[in-house]
Amino acid sequence: MFNALIVDKDEDGNTHAGVKQIGLDDLPHAEVTVAIDYSTVNYKDGLCIGPGGGLVRHYPHVPGIDFAGTVEASEDDRYKPGDKVVLTGWRVGEAHWGGYAQKARVKADWLVPLPEGLNTRQAMAVGTAGLTAMLAVMALEDHGMEKEHGPVLVTGAAGGVGSVATAILAHLGYEVAAVTGRPEQADYLKGLGATTIVPREEFAEVTRKPLESEQWAGCVDAVGGVMLGRVLKQMKYGTSVAAIGLAGGAAIEGALITPFILRGVNLLGIDSVMQRYDNRVRAWNRIVTDLPMDKLEAMVQPATLSDLPKLGAEILKGQVKGRIVVDVN
Ligand code: NDP
Repeated sequence: MFNALIVDKDEDGNTHAGVKQIGLDDLPHAEVTVAIDYSTVNYKDGLCIGPGGGLVRHYPHVPGIDFAGTVEASEDDRYKPGDKVVLTGWRVGEAHWGGYAQKARVKADWLVPLPEGLNTRQAMAVGTAGLTAMLAVMALEDHGMEKEHGPVLVTGAAGGVGSVATAILAHLGYEVAAVTGRPEQADYLKGLGATTIVPREEFAEVTRKPLESEQWAGCVDAVGGVMLGRVLKQMKYGTSVAAIGLAGGAAIEGALITPFILRGVNLLGIDSVMQRYDNRVRAWNRIVTDLPMDKLEAMVQPATLSDLPKLGAEILKGQVKGRIVVDVN
């Protein structure tokens, strides 16, 4: 028997989360059984620990959209007992039982070998949020982002994706303008390498202007909503915005076609869930070289399985700073 965070739904449709004991026979069938060391808390986890957000198909459910650990048993030639592995995406923790347990059973296709240079705790300090930040930076680079063009904007900067994006961009030598609604996190963001702190209020109003003055050489946007509508109009000629999240709204409020056709601005969609295996491996290897481990450590807040109901509610309110690492043991 081992511990798992089980979310169940009562007759009134309310969900309840608590740590319970389950056995190997309770796990879904799949090729690889993993003994989990660490998981983490992403925005989606907040939804799946709580009301489900339309992501969870069946109850009882074990959330946790990512984990790192050691293979215990494998029916697939690519993995053998003792291998260190990482999992992000593939709707694990949503449609399939996830990482908030001491063991998980998943498809071999969903795993990536733990990259050399990271331990399982560091891999989950990065987690889905950090992997997505890296994918966003890679996409911006692939579309011509250059240090000489000026500052790169990171929105939702004190959150998980934003913190990792800030640290990676600063390490690569970019000037980073970090947008936050939490002025008290200014020192934290400067410690990660942000050169300027931009108050969230500067992007709070929808404007009908077709364009604003050109300011940014690139943008990693975790927020969407009004903010993304404004940011697009402030991008320099020929630059790109990597849209990774919707913490501030799913619509692009006040957006117009003008930045695209008058300034050649690109809007790049970043999805980590169905990302190709070779690109995941490329991103994990880039994390090893481009994310300083002391900066990663500065983002980490430790947690256990029993802390998760509280942390899930906090991340949905934008109250979590940086990255939470959940020691499931
Ligand atoms: P966090 O909650 O850690 O970070 C989100 C940050 O956005 C907050 O910390 C806050 O930053 C800011 N924010 C929150 N609410 C608002 C608001 N109403 N208006 C403006 N800013 C706001 O979440 P994650 O970093 O884990 O995820 C961020 C987003 O990215 C989520 O929407 C998530 O679903 C998405 N995501 C997408 C992935 C993909 O594959 N595309 C993968 C992972 C995440 P601050 O206080 O600094 O302003």
